[in-house]
Amino acid sequence: MARMKDAERLSEQPVCIFCRGRSADAVWIGKQTVGVCQPCAIDILPKLIGDAVCNRVNADREGLQDVAERHWTAAKGNFFESIFRNACRILDEWQQGHAGRLN
Ligand SMILES: [Zn+2]
Repeated sequence: MARMKDAERLSEQPVCIFCRGRSADAVWIGKQTVGVCQPCAIDILPKLIGDAVCNRVNADREGLQDVAERHWTAAKGNFFESIFRNACRILDEWQQGHAGRLN
């Protein structure tokens, strides 16, 4: 996931791929650039993840609850990794802004 500062290098301001009404608060830069706004990230992305997980379930071999728990654990880990990475970035930016005052 790219931060919006990285996305500022894009030629256009990214728009949310889901609602197409709000500017993106986060972007994924891969083969295509995908932007999402915060409301859609909270409302739509979790549902999309659930659908993607369930559509891969082989009900004969594995129970839906087991699959959901396994993928939820992985998704939760990725979510908190992103929160931690952003917290570190915010702290770094704050320290750079206050570098002369801390000594
Ligand atoms: Zn949106």
